[in-house]
Amino acid sequence: MQVVFDDSRLNPIRGKVEAGERLSFEDGVTLYRTPDILALGYLANLVRERLHGSKTYFNVNRHINPTNVCVAACRLCAFGRKKDSPGAYTMALEEAFQTAASGYTESVTEFHIVGGLHPDLPFQYFLDLCSGLKQRFPQVHLKAFTMVEVAFLAKIAKLSIRDTLLKLKEAGVDSLPGGGAEIFTDRVRHIICDHKIDGAQWLDTAKLAHQVGLKSNATMLYGHIENDEDRVDHLMKLRAVQDETGGFQTFIPLAFHPANTVLSHLGTTTGFMDIKSIAVARLVLDNFPHIKAYWQMMTAKIAQIALRFGADDLDGTVIEEKIYHDAGATTPQGMRREELVRLIKEAGREPIERDTMYRPVTRTETSFTVAV
Ligand code: SF4
Repeated sequence: MQVVFDDSRLNPIRGKVEAGERLSFEDGVTLYRTPDILALGYLANLVRERLHGSKTYFNVNRHINPTNVCVAACRLCAFGRKKDSPGAYTMALEEAFQTAASGYTESVTEFHIVGGLHPDLPFQYFLDLCSGLKQRFPQVHLKAFTMVEVAFLAKIAKLSIRDTLLKLKEAGVDSLPGGGAEIFTDRVRHIICDHKIDGAQWLDTAKLAHQVGLKSNATMLYGHIENDEDRVDHLMKLRAVQDETGGFQTFIPLAFHPANTVLSHLGTTTGFMDIKSIAVARLVLDNFPHIKAYWQMMTAKIAQIALRFGADDLDGTVIEEKIYHDAGATTPQGMRREELVRLIKEAGREPIERDTMYRPVTRTETSFTVAV
């Protein structure tokens, strides 16, 4: 017996999803506007299970935020500080290496490295940071620097973006995270992050990264001043780049945390919007292999439910996340591997520990191997 949807506007979309056809901009907006979240989940789950069955990925990673000093003053941000402000910090290289080592007991497979746009740190600092980490932890994947940071480093180094990416790659960067994408529409970007590269530059930098052989992720910050059309426009632009390069691995919707930002008068995201952001992305981004429910941003409880609404990835153990916690996230700063596995199993899904490139990781008590 066929499931009947409460919202009949979803019936034509259902036909397309079942036939594996691409959804349009209007379909995306309809999906965002429907209150029929169970129908949305049903459709997103069809695609999720078609791609991954019950497999649900997670990794054991450590975040390193080398500096919070930033020349930009994005209204969305609670992390960045001016150079001489209270709370501003910049890690000396040795300190960054010690930070990396201090979370190492669980055999991390990835360092996730992002930070502010520091006006005085030379490009060489970042090259030394990466090569130093590679030397000390050769088996750990370096997922480092958002498109925004890469574009800024290119300016500091007086190099083209392509050459900057090549130098970073040579120093040990293995792939790029997906941050800084926020919402691509100019109208929104002017208000929330006027000092950052614009949406087109973000997308061009991603293309260049993919062209030089660096995979990346892509994010979308939702739950502030954007509307349904802005979110769908964002997804469409990412889908177009992915058609060209195939270089995106994972899409990660990020729930906006207003506390301690200039936009603190805005409310936090709702459970409905968190779940929708996962489900609509799974349906519109038909060329993205993975959709991640980042538990740090949407809470472990919502992220777990998202595993039945289109998400196939829960991110990682994280260890000491700073950026969203400065913005008032009340989730723990890290989660043990066993806890992630419990969340996934309880949702009736099959936990697969992965490395950054989604290769399965097999562990013994004292070591791990990555299937190649
Ligand atoms: S969001 Fe990034 S670029 Fe903007 S102020 Fe914060 S750290 Fe700086």
